[in-house]
Amino acid sequence: MSSLDRYAAAKLAEMESAHRRRRLVESARDDGIHITRQGRQLVSFSCNDYLNLTHHPAVKEAAIKAVEKYGVGAGASRLVTGNHPLLIELEQRLAHYKGLEAACVFGSGYLANTGIIPSLMGKEDLLLVDELAHGCLWAGSMLTNGKLVMFRHNDMDLLRQLLEQHRASHPYALIVTDGVFSMDGDLAPLPEMVAIAAEFDAWLMTDDAHGLGILNGGRGSAFHKGEKLPIPLQMGTLSKALASYGGYICAAQNVIDLIKTRARTLIYSTGLPPASAAAAIAALDVIEQNPGLGQQALEKAQSFTRALNIPLATSTIVPVIIGPEAVSLDASKILEQEGFIVTAIRPPTVPKGTARLRFAFSAGHADADIQRVASIVRDKIMPLIG
Ligand SMILES: *Cc1c(COP(=O)(O)O)cnc(C)c1O
Repeated sequence: MSSLDRYAAAKLAEMESAHRRRRLVESARDDGIHITRQGRQLVSFSCNDYLNLTHHPAVKEAAIKAVEKYGVGAGASRLVTGNHPLLIELEQRLAHYKGLEAACVFGSGYLANTGIIPSLMGKEDLLLVDELAHGCLWAGSMLTNGKLVMFRHNDMDLLRQLLEQHRASHPYALIVTDGVFSMDGDLAPLPEMVAIAAEFDAWLMTDDAHGLGILNGGRGSAFHKGEKLPIPLQMGTLSKALASYGGYICAAQNVIDLIKTRARTLIYSTGLPPASAAAAIAALDVIEQNPGLGQQALEKAQSFTRALNIPLATSTIVPVIIGPEAVSLDASKILEQEGFIVTAIRPPTVPKGTARLRFAFSAGHADADIQRVASIVRDKIMPLIG
């Protein structure tokens, strides 16, 4: 065995004994809800396909047509020859939908966040990041080499205090948060964050991966009670409710132009395939024509929380926090035996001691399945929680 092999084997053994080893399981998505694993068809509560548009006939048709007309790959970086007309159309559609001047589409949400943040912030600057912000917001923030300060989840008093303490020693400051937190399903207090950002001349960036298509008639968490909040950097993904693949940011034209000039994950990575853009545009069409779809998905999550008598869901994501890694894996296995896929989420994705089942609800989930999975959680999972 080479030293590399030995290193990998020892690391894996270490992770296995901490119940932190991760494995890829072959999973064929048969439609927006069902998955076939090892010959068994299961109901998934672990897909982010909240509106079940991955298998929508019009969305599939748009992708097929794009492949037939334009081929499969973009051929080059967008800054070279990969800037397909469908990408330009998609950017216009996203900017219009979010009510901002312009947009930039990236190869994925992860690539967006790791490109956007360092293209705006440098080593003299201040970044304030919610402790539960998505891993790629953290990755992007770390790439800036700026002063990185974490604040306790949604703690606005602390955010204000940290700005009072640090803001004056930095030319620019950025506040970074999820709009909907990906592993907890709760919302950032955006109206308050907007006010704090204005008070300290800090820029606010939201990641609305789980808000777009769902909250506020589909337009996302930056629309609060029908009103558009002045959030200058609104990032999101095409790969959740929009059912396709890719990431985006909406902002003012100058900001987008700067990002397109500087973001390394845009410059040094091939453009999105035309079919991914076509599918995202078609998904946006469906959402705009059916503004109640997101609410339908939200109501499915709420019927689950009602059945369990836990706090009412505020998004399509509902965590059932188990604690120890090993117990969360057992809980996931119990549900799989009963015909449901609910993947256990373990540290370091979530804080130590908070391994959980993360339920994701979609507009198309059958009420009977929701009631049945809730009763299994109540009768077989809750008793495991110490
Ligand atoms: C999924 C997710 C991303 C990454 O988006 P991809 O398009 O899947 O790379 C970024 N931020 C949040 C909050 C997410 O949940």
